[in-house]
Amino acid sequence: MRRALIAGNWKMNLNRAQSQSLAREVAAQSGDVAAELVVCPPLVYLDAVHQVLDGSAVGLGAQNMYHEPQGAFTGEVSAPMLLDVGCQWVILGHSERRHLLGETDEAINRKLHAALDTSLEGKRLRPIVCVGELLEDRKAGRTLEVIRQQFDGSLANVTAEQLARLVIAYEPVWAIGTGEVATPEQAEEVHADLRKLVQDRYNAEVAESLRILYGGSVKPENAASLLSAPNIDGALVGGASLKADAFLAIAQAAPSD
Ligand code: PEP
Repeated sequence: MRRALIAGNWKMNLNRAQSQSLAREVAAQSGDVAAELVVCPPLVYLDAVHQVLDGSAVGLGAQNMYHEPQGAFTGEVSAPMLLDVGCQWVILGHSERRHLLGETDEAINRKLHAALDTSLEGKRLRPIVCVGELLEDRKAGRTLEVIRQQFDGSLANVTAEQLARLVIAYEPVWAIGTGEVATPEQAEEVHADLRKLVQDRYNAEVAESLRILYGGSVKPENAASLLSAPNIDGALVGGASLKADAFLAIAQAAPSD
């Protein structure tokens, strides 16, 4: 049984005080949910949120990182830095980075290897790697092809052992921040195909234990139907993660056994 993971991507929202207060509320109620919880604040507030979450069951994640560990890379932040401020997780290849900032599968793959290879005082990062098709891909019947390409490109040369440390998030681009959610059947089709791909590329055991999250306008009202699909193991939540009650209601909608 895969334990559900509900990750909140706060994107470029909230200020320092609001970030701490939201993290405090989530941590305070986290004991009521069976799902694993992670919050991903803006980079500049990671340290402040870590101070609030330290010792709680809620994980801390970054929304991005650079593949080099240090050096002359103005404006970038590295995997050792994320570990140093208490991150356990990092989102890689979010569609906003792919499509607004031009991140390619190759760039995401470099970041992924850096995230997987870095350790600091015995601590390591767990990547959440995002894949998702554009509306035009879906309309053209190319959804599974695009997802497979992104998987193969973004996860190139990842070993079975490394795969066990990461999570995939399927996020159809047309459903992100639009209010238009994939139906459970649409999402399940892609999740099942991804799991089959992992079985083909790796083995049945790795495929069975890999968590595949759905992301794209997940809300308390639609969470239960999505999260009860057999291959949907959690959610990557944008807008609804900015309110503790909504985020926790989504987490409570995840099946617990
Ligand atoms: C996201 O950005 O990962 C996301 C799924 O956003 P939203 O829930 O707002 O669609």
